[in-house]
Amino acid sequence: MPHLLMTFVGLLFAGGGILLGLAALTWQRRSATSGRSLAAMLAGAAVWVLGAAAEHLAPGVAGKLLASKVQYVGVLAIPPAALATVLVAVGRARWLERSLPFLLGFAACGIGLAATNDWHGLVWERVALAPGPGFPILALDYGPAYAVIALGCHVQLLAALWLYVAYSGRGFEPEACLVHLGFAAPWATNVLYQLRVGPWPELDLTPLGLVVTGVAFTVSFHGLGNVFSTLKLAHRDVLEHIADAILVFDRDERLLSANRAARALLALPPLPAPAARALAPFDALLAWVRSGAASAAEGGFDIEIRTARAADGGEAATERRVFDARAVPIEDARLSGRAAVGGRVVVLREVTEQRAAEREHRLHREQLRQILDLMPHAVFARDGQGHFLLVNESCARIYGMRPENLLGRSQYALHDGAEDVARMLAHDRRVMESGAASTIEEHFEDDRGRSHVFRTTRVPFLRSEDELPAVLGVAINVTREKERERLLERLASTDSLTDLANRRHFHEVLEHALSTARHKAHRAGLLFIDLDRFKMVNDVYGHLVGDEVLREVASRIQDSVRFTDQVLVAGRDTGDDAGSETTVSRLGGDEFIVLLPEVTGPAGAAHVARRILAALARPIATGDERLQLGASVGVAIFPEDGADPETLLRHCDQALGNAKRSGRGKFEFFSAAIGEAEERRHEIERALRRALERRGELEVHYQPIRHARTAALTSVEALVRMTSAELGAVAPEEFIPVAEESGLVVPLGRYVVETVCAHAAGWRARGLRLPRFAINLSARQLVDRATAEELGRIFTAAGLDGSAIEFELTEGSILTRNPVVGETIAALRSQGCTFALDDFGTGYSSLSHLRRFEFDRLKIDRTFVAGIGRVAGDEELTRAVIALGQRLGIETVAEGVETETQLAFLRDEGCDFVQGYLLGRPLPAADTERMLESALGREKDETA
Ligand code: C2E
Ligand code: CA
Ligand code: CA
Repeated sequence: MPHLLMTFVGLLFAGGGILLGLAALTWQRRSATSGRSLAAMLAGAAVWVLGAAAEHLAPGVAGKLLASKVQYVGVLAIPPAALATVLVAVGRARWLERSLPFLLGFAACGIGLAATNDWHGLVWERVALAPGPGFPILALDYGPAYAVIALGCHVQLLAALWLYVAYSGRGFEPEACLVHLGFAAPWATNVLYQLRVGPWPELDLTPLGLVVTGVAFTVSFHGLGNVFSTLKLAHRDVLEHIADAILVFDRDERLLSANRAARALLALPPLPAPAARALAPFDALLAWVRSGAASAAEGGFDIEIRTARAADGGEAATERRVFDARAVPIEDARLSGRAAVGGRVVVLREVTEQRAAEREHRLHREQLRQILDLMPHAVFARDGQGHFLLVNESCARIYGMRPENLLGRSQYALHDGAEDVARMLAHDRRVMESGAASTIEEHFEDDRGRSHVFRTTRVPFLRSEDELPAVLGVAINVTREKERERLLERLASTDSLTDLANRRHFHEVLEHALSTARHKAHRAGLLFIDLDRFKMVNDVYGHLVGDEVLREVASRIQDSVRFTDQVLVAGRDTGDDAGSETTVSRLGGDEFIVLLPEVTGPAGAAHVARRILAALARPIATGDERLQLGASVGVAIFPEDGADPETLLRHCDQALGNAKRSGRGKFEFFSAAIGEAEERRHEIERALRRALERRGELEVHYQPIRHARTAALTSVEALVRMTSAELGAVAPEEFIPVAEESGLVVPLGRYVVETVCAHAAGWRARGLRLPRFAINLSARQLVDRATAEELGRIFTAAGLDGSAIEFELTEGSILTRNPVVGETIAALRSQGCTFALDDFGTGYSSLSHLRRFEFDRLKIDRTFVAGIGRVAGDEELTRAVIALGQRLGIETVAEGVETETQLAFLRDEGCDFVQGYLLGRPLPAADTERMLESALGREKDETA
């Protein structure tokens, strides 16, 4: 028996030591869940157990009494500490705050009572001595105070037990069983002792039950491994205060530990607890922890957790928070404790705001992309090496790709033409270097080989400082615009009929070509081409045929200049010079002009002129007709014949005029003499125009025409004279051709007829009756439909009839297909006018014309008359003409009779009339009147 007692006491000491140790360790872990209250409970149990041992060992009654009191101190600390521990462990720390004064007060009262009252005898001795169950005896012995305290103790213990059962009642859990064991062990041992049952009925096992309680509680609430790992981890506090939630799971998915952030976030049950329970409300996190992913160390995983938001006043709302979850496997037992090995540490970092910001950022990017893709223009960013950093849909479409496929590609990989790319990238770099925006036009072939023109604006691309510079560009496709521009330009610069350059465009080209020629010191040639008889084509065949002819002429001219480049120009650099091409242009009507921008000299230009003339000499077929047109060409060479476009053109035109005058189908160079003559012609034209307006400068002189045999005055020829204020007297030989060319001969002719009629009427009124007045009529007047009627009106106005007038026509003027000529002649003849064929023998001298127009007289040209007595041929011809006239019944008039020899010859040959200085020079009207008076007067005398 004493041996058994000593063993028991030894066990008590050992148990007390264990409890004391656990208390100390738990106390050290201050921040652990319910650590302090658990430590207090353990300490209380340790004091009780050690006190019980001391009571057994104490030699005297006083010692036993003291040990017994010490036991009470320990006993009374246990219930409040147990309740507090459970409250915290089940997450009811706030209830603890409220009940703490009561719990502490209760403990203090009990301890005070036990320490001060002497009725506390030898507790267990007393009970041990009593027969039967001890509790009622104790209650009787110690009175109501003891009963109240005992009741209070048991209420607290029951409350703690109930709380724990209530919170851990979800299935079988080792932790819960341990706690239940902790509650049950002292009660069971105490009941066994009081009922005196069990192996050693004499020994009170309650203190040993308390040891079981301490160990069970400690293991349950902290887990042994956790306790020790906590001690081992140097940075326990750091972990505890870290903002990220840190959870430790063992290999069986039990949540062993959680730091403060984790506890606050997840409101965890007493730990350790299975993950399934601890994380039940957070299914996403639980699922993740359960899945193998949780053990993969690398990479984060976003988990959404809904937590209650502390709503001020309003109803509690939940808040969606996002955490980046990462798991680290636990391999080292020394660091984590054995229970944790094979498990993992899970770290949850809150990224709610970060993710929101990222979402926002992504949204912005998407919006930007949406905007870019919506743009019809290509948008791109490129680095210095031509790699695409950004492209929109339009840009990718150019390459027939998707934007994502284009990114990162080099411009070189996309184009065949490395030169084009180099040029493009050079532009890029210029913008990067200068930092200034630039807009240029770029030519570009797409993936289908269609060429485009882009107007591209580049700006330096904004990038962070450590990135290489890049360029941002917007390329607007202006191909259509360009095409339209070109078309408009072409329309504005070409002659719609022939597709040649028009006048406006030609002037531009000429100006450019001449400045180039001046710059490079070479010659240029200008060829003015005028079609012969084109007006006739228009008049006779109509405008449609005329247009057709012009088109044919244009193409022939172009054909004949096509190869002139090689022929004419030696060693020319075939550059990008727009002015270096031979340009053919239609200036209007039947006037064409050819620009040879570079010629070796006059010979080259002459070569081209000859080719053109040859080409135009060939008949042109239109419908059934084959028209023989021919042309004249005037040539001027830059810079000799004109240093500026205007002069060169004028001189070229003068050369053309000269070519036309010198006979059809020829070309003529400009020369200074031509220039002067042309100048003179212009002056004369201006003078004539003025003279026609002023009327004071024109006059009509009359030259007598006499009967060859009788020398009687039969007629006078009206010859117009001009005395210009600026030029003085100008010979008709000079101004009549100008009048013909300019068309001024029509008003001039009208003036002459009016004047002649006025004189004739006046002279008649004074009794001077001359049978005929000869008036020269030009070809222009003959083809004018208005002429016959107009002249008729003049006759009537003067009170004359046409029989007093004889018109002199040249062969050239009637040599035409124009039907108006015949009509005019017929109309005038019907008014009584007669007709003489002037200058006979110089022109075509066609007998059929003589017949067809029924001339009344034939005027032998003065060049033949001049040969009489000197040139045998002229005499023969004169003789033949006179004979012809006699045969045909047409009277002959010899012009330019200056000598008696001539007069005698003509008289002998039977010429009817003579005219010339020998018989009278042309005289002004007043002198003529005197001449008429003497001539007709003498006639009167003779008849009288
Ligand atoms: P034409 O019709 O052959 O006129 C005769 C020209 O010979 C006149 O020259 C006259 O002065 C000139 N003449 C007359 N007798 C002699 C002579 O013995 N010796 C020489 N050497 N010449 C003589 P003019 O007046 O200078 O006229 C020249 C031409 O101008 C005319 O040639 C005629 O074709 C044209 N012309 C003159 N007046 C008119 C006119 O009113 N209307 C038109 N359409 N033409 C006119
Ligand atoms: Ca005449
Ligand atoms: Ca004549």
